Amino acid sequence: MVISPCTHGMPSPTSCVTCMEEGPVAAPARWVLIGAPFLAGFAGSCERCVRPYAPGMRIVREDLGGQRTRYVHEECV
Ligand SMILES: [Zn+2]
Ligand SMILES: [Zn+2]
Repeated sequence: MVISPCTHGMPSPTSCVTCMEEGPVAAPARWVLIGAPFLAGFAGSCERCVRPYAPGMRIVREDLGGQRTRYVHEECV
């Protein structure tokens, strides 16, 4: 998401009361669950518990604001 500059003379929208009244100025990106759990077809490591998962384990996909994708254990969500 591109944050538009303040048009009211303040250095940034987050320091401008008028901008903030007009809407969220910097919505933080959040990890969002994508789809249903599935069996991993590859090995990797879970970014939540930092332990590996192996092919055949149940994992889920998460996306961060459409910019990043990660896979975590089903039970770690
Ligand atoms: Zn402003
Ligand atoms: Zn995990």
